[in-house]
Amino acid sequence: MPLQQTCPCGSGTPYDACCGRLHRGADRARTAEELMRSRYAAYAVGDLDYVFRTWHPRTRPEDLSPEPGLTWTGLTVVDSGADWVEFVATFESHGRPGEMHERSRFEQRAGRWVYVDGVVS
Ligand SMILES: [Zn+2]
Repeated sequence: MPLQQTCPCGSGTPYDACCGRLHRGADRARTAEELMRSRYAAYAVGDLDYVFRTWHPRTRPEDLSPEPGLTWTGLTVVDSGADWVEFVATFESHGRPGEMHERSRFEQRAGRWVYVDGVVS
């Protein structure tokens, strides 16, 4: 995606200065919420490699492939703590809007935040 375009995570900052720098490995997420935002943005820009890399090896799927016809359209962080984030992500699937409400859990492994799992409600 164009580097100067506003980041899909909703920060209002250009992509490259926001989650883009995490996606290309120039920096790492300092908090669970920052990691969560960058993972959402990775889904939005189609960087599934980053999604995979930031998923706990114990819980991550063997293969991540894009869902055809699905576009992520927005993220709202509802609440967050040291190792969890509750959010609503909106999407369009084959032209129809939808939303996903999840409370995700994160862990630090060797100083890096990783996604463990989430409860969808
Ligand atoms: Zn961002």
